[in-house]
Amino acid sequence: MRKEVVVKEAMKSNPVIVKPTITVLEAAKLMREKKIGNVIVVEKKQPTGILTESDILKKVVAEGKNANEILVEEVMSTPIIVTDPYIPVEEAMKTMGKCNIRRLPVVENGELIGIITHKDITRISPILNEIAREWYNIAKKDESHLRAQIFSGKCEDCSSLSTNLKNVDGRLLCENCMDALKYQ
Ligand SMILES: [Zn+2]
Repeated sequence: MRKEVVVKEAMKSNPVIVKPTITVLEAAKLMREKKIGNVIVVEKKQPTGILTESDILKKVVAEGKNANEILVEEVMSTPIIVTDPYIPVEEAMKTMGKCNIRRLPVVENGELIGIITHKDITRISPILNEIAREWYNIAKKDESHLRAQIFSGKCEDCSSLSTNLKNVDGRLLCENCMDALKYQ
C-alpha cells in the first residue's frame, strides 16, 4: 500500500506574508510583484488573517475607499482556519471542501511554517480531486465541520493571539479561556 502523504510533504514553505499594519496598497503591490492572489497576515509569527484579491475588490475598491489609507487588518478575513502539518493531505482536502476554502496555512508549534492549497494536493493526487468534488458544496459550508476546526487569530474573550482557537458555543476561544471555563 502506498504511504500516506502528509500536509508537510505537499505544502509550500515560506509563503508570502505581510504585517497587519501595512496599507492595502502596499499589500496589493506585493501581490502583483509576486504574482499571487492572496497573502497571509502574520503577527508575532502567528497567522492572524488572510487578505485576498476579492477582499481588496469588495471591501476597498467597491466601497470607494482609498487603498493607501486602509490598513490590511481592517479588511482581512480573520480568524482563519489552519492545519497541522502531520495530518494526511486527504484530511486537509476534506477540511477545505467542507469549509469551502481553497487554502490552509500550516502551523507547527504556534508558528506559520507553510501553506497548502487545493491545487498543491490535486497535483500530487489527481484521484483525490475527483473525490473532493463531493466535499465541495458551492451553496453552503458544512457548519458542524466548520465548528470542529482549529482557527488562528484573536481570542474572542481575552483578545490575545492564538494559533489554537476552538469553537466553544459559537465563540472562538484560546486555550487559557477554555480552561478558565472548565473551572467556573
Ligand atoms: Zn482567551
